[in-house]
Amino acid sequence: MKKFRQQFPLLGSSNPSATRHDQEKSVPGVNHAFVYFDNGATTQKPNCVIDSHQTFYQEYNANVHRASHALSAKATSAFEQARADVKDFINAKSSKEIIWTKGATESINLIANTLGHQILSPGDEIIIAVSEHHANIVPWQLLAKQTAAIIKVLTLDEDGRIDLANFERLINDKTKIVCCGHVSNVLGKVNPIEAIIAKAKAVGAVTIIDGAQAVAHFPVDVQALDCDFYLFSAHKMYGPTGVGVLYGKQVLLDAMPPYQLGGEMIKKVSFNQPTTFNVLPFKFEAGTPNIAGVIAFAQAIKFMKQFCHQDIMQYENLLIQHCYRALAQISQIKFVVRDVPDIPVLAFTVEGHHNQDIASALDSFGIAIRSGHHCAMPLMEYLSLSGCLRVSMAPYNTIEEIDYFITCLEKIIMASDSHLTVNGVTAKQHLQQSSALNSNDIIKQFAHLTGWHNRHREIMLLSKKLPRLASHDRHEQSLIHGCESLAWLVSRQDKQAIFYFQADSDARIIRGLLVIVLAAFNGKTAEQIQTFDIEEYFDKLGLMQQLSPSRGNGVLAIVEKIKALSL
Ligand code: PLP
Repeated sequence: MKKFRQQFPLLGSSNPSATRHDQEKSVPGVNHAFVYFDNGATTQKPNCVIDSHQTFYQEYNANVHRASHALSAKATSAFEQARADVKDFINAKSSKEIIWTKGATESINLIANTLGHQILSPGDEIIIAVSEHHANIVPWQLLAKQTAAIIKVLTLDEDGRIDLANFERLINDKTKIVCCGHVSNVLGKVNPIEAIIAKAKAVGAVTIIDGAQAVAHFPVDVQALDCDFYLFSAHKMYGPTGVGVLYGKQVLLDAMPPYQLGGEMIKKVSFNQPTTFNVLPFKFEAGTPNIAGVIAFAQAIKFMKQFCHQDIMQYENLLIQHCYRALAQISQIKFVVRDVPDIPVLAFTVEGHHNQDIASALDSFGIAIRSGHHCAMPLMEYLSLSGCLRVSMAPYNTIEEIDYFITCLEKIIMASDSHLTVNGVTAKQHLQQSSALNSNDIIKQFAHLTGWHNRHREIMLLSKKLPRLASHDRHEQSLIHGCESLAWLVSRQDKQAIFYFQADSDARIIRGLLVIVLAAFNGKTAEQIQTFDIEEYFDKLGLMQQLSPSRGNGVLAIVEKIKALSL
């Protein structure tokens, strides 16, 4: 798959984060600055997709469908050709069945807000699986509330696929909608959607398949599946963000009311007669679409077509088998479900380690993986997990990258605190250093550190300085919402109206960050706390790239809670 990888500039040696991890430069076959294992969230983009945007804006930028000039004709023709390319890609019958949306999320919302309201009566049932992405849960929850319909939730078998026996027990004459993920974004297992579609049809239910995690990995034929709707996002298959597809059978789309209203989706607008709507597919495409994105998406499809599906599937299988086997050798690794996934998406936890700590430590080695609930909180609840780690790969990933990842993961698991040193200072020595740090001490401490790897180590060492909070101080009121891990904060104020904070977290990385943040706020008045510039502080520490407080990560939640308490 060398030819595949070569077309992704971000994965090449010119990658801007090439200096992030200076210490592991000599493992052959790996770009040490950057191993991207977060493809389930979004894939990287090949040159043709990147170039397509530039060509469009430089050479034929115009709005589509509306104008009679040549530029618009050229843009319209490329835009509609992209629709035809998607039609061929999933083997739909007609281009009229391909609706452009912003992404898989909007596609589901479109169906829920149109067909959902049209066909549901109180007491009717919607079936979804416990493993669905939030995008395929929340729209149905709101719809059920609005229509007094009932949601029935499918459980999984031990391998992590939808349990067909359970489905057979749930489905009945009241089932009006069955909406399942083709592949779980956490478990990487292909669901038995052919059987689900056939059984749903037998009771007259509408079938909707969320293919967001499928289309990049294996061929999809909507006519062979015979589902009513199939949807996905371009950005998970090498295309741009902000473009999605809703495939629907023409007869159903024709009968559905429009979703959003405005320009483009109308036939005639009048104050004297009823406004009439456009034909398919335009009836569902109000306003100016993401023209450059749609055209670039066609390039992504063209790019994928250069490679034989069989070769891609074979190579991805090689990657996943290799990764699964290597992880299985590490005794602390606990797979979320049993057996090798069907696509290269693998979920696991590391016994004795917080997921966020593992993910941030891997990031310090230049390896991007995911930790958390992966927008599948009900699945986490079902599996009795607070979250997990997810490695998701693409054909541009390599066996060498997996080996490097495994080596780094083993190092992280093995490293006991006494082995952690920063510029020759052990954790123990570190602990003996002053315990009452202020922001200037922290800034001095970070001043000599170069690279995220060393700064990350320093944060982990600082975590040792945080006294643990008593269990009676860990309650709902002290909980910091917005942190990926659990974190608590309590405050007290002395007679001079000076604030003192104590905090704790179950993740070491957050405990280290709490030391940094508390050093800035402890011993200050409310006014000093309110006016303290946290962004400038993080900038001075060299942490803005990874931990910018404005990014809505745990740091922001901690700072906001401190500020709220001081009011
Ligand atoms: N469905 C699944 C299975 C997904 O994995 C995702 C995104 O991760 C979505 C839906 C939502 O996709 P988007 O955010 O592109 O709308």
